[in-house]
Amino acid sequence: MIERRDSVGIQDGADKNDALPTEMSEAEHRVRTRLIHGVGNSERWDFSHHVVPPMTSSATFRLDSVERGAQGFVDFAHEGNTPHCHTPIYIYDRLDEPTRGMLEDNLALAERGDMGLCFASGMAAISAVFGTLVKSGEHIIAHDVLYGCTYSLVQNWMPRLNIRCDLADLRRPEIIARCATRDTRVVYFETPVNPDLTMIDIAGVASVVAELNESRTEDEKIRVVVDNTFASPFCQRPLELGADIVCLSLTKAIGGFGTDIGGAVVGPQWLHDSLIHYRKDFGGTLSPKAAWGTLVYGLPSLATRMANYQKSAAHIAQFLENHPKVSEVHYPGLKSFPQSELAQRQMRDDSGKFAPGSMLYFVLNDKTGDGQPARQLVNYLADHSYCITLAVSLGQIKTLIECPYWMTHSAMSVEAKRAHDLAPGGCRLSVGLEDWHDIVADLDAALDRI
Ligand SMILES: *Cc1c(COP(=O)(O)O)cnc(C)c1O
Repeated sequence: MIERRDSVGIQDGADKNDALPTEMSEAEHRVRTRLIHGVGNSERWDFSHHVVPPMTSSATFRLDSVERGAQGFVDFAHEGNTPHCHTPIYIYDRLDEPTRGMLEDNLALAERGDMGLCFASGMAAISAVFGTLVKSGEHIIAHDVLYGCTYSLVQNWMPRLNIRCDLADLRRPEIIARCATRDTRVVYFETPVNPDLTMIDIAGVASVVAELNESRTEDEKIRVVVDNTFASPFCQRPLELGADIVCLSLTKAIGGFGTDIGGAVVGPQWLHDSLIHYRKDFGGTLSPKAAWGTLVYGLPSLATRMANYQKSAAHIAQFLENHPKVSEVHYPGLKSFPQSELAQRQMRDDSGKFAPGSMLYFVLNDKTGDGQPARQLVNYLADHSYCITLAVSLGQIKTLIECPYWMTHSAMSVEAKRAHDLAPGGCRLSVGLEDWHDIVADLDAALDRI
């Protein structure tokens, strides 16, 4: 009986991993290898006889005895500073479960954090970070351009909880010292910023915040939270640059294939217990079926995909920059990129190579300023292009294009968009794995038509 139970993986013994043939030291391997093999020696499942991690699908778990059940509830959200001290006792999917847990361990490894927790979407992850770190009466500082739904979250929903959010231009980190009050708890930003690829200096922000934190107690400290969705951990690891916490949409580059929605938070161990409690009670947990795809297909192929996305993005950026109908191209890999020095310093893959990513933003010549040429271009592509798809989302194997001013960033007022140079004529391009010649040919044909 006991053996049969062990063969489906839920085990009590702490010694089951002793016999694993490949004790792995992650630090010895390069990132592409590490993302494929991940945390091989997991306490969450009997890995010694699987090549591919199993997909668990059990809403609830057999507990054997009231005592074991009671131990499970004692253990839950009490990892404290000693994570994984014994094989987890699983109780109920929304609390914790093995497939999602394995993905969490691997995301922590990819982002170089102590721990990771997965959420039902990127937005569920971001709202859980705010919900955990900020209370009524407290204060958030965020960069003044954000992913549309994050913008709406801090502008429309946080104030209803009596949480104020000041938006500021964090390209100049010194501004934080002026905006911060005794009640500030979080500085939040994306870099590169969605959609126009503006860079925020992570180390610069962290150093301003560290100075402000010197006179604050642990509970009052300001935490630097970076949304690393655009870059992905392949191109940039904010925790290594001084950020406290990373938020990710798994739907984008990490998921890679566009089959599931998901999100994650990676950060310090002290955050784990309150964040997993928050997730349990608000309920925005990632489904293990979605976690499995990300664990088996998305994350293991991230390095190879991103390396190839980037190569194509460089060619496409060059082509657009030389095209007479294009007035601006924002790509961190271009020499003309206004924050090139910062991009070179901050966006590095694990081997230290410059990694400017897969996202491009470009603006078309637009005499009337109403975005007509961009809409024409994208509508033409939607009708005629084989390899460029009009769709929101990004980081997938298929190349996607959209108009942020009209679509993803419509939560921002016209005045806010104008104030931050989000032009009606701007296009956001997420480069996929197609042959770049085909992407350029389709762009060229569409540009000819406008
Ligand atoms: C898509 C996106 C999100 C939200 O992620 P979902 O998985 O769609 O909820 C957050 N931040 C950025 C930068 C994004 O691009």
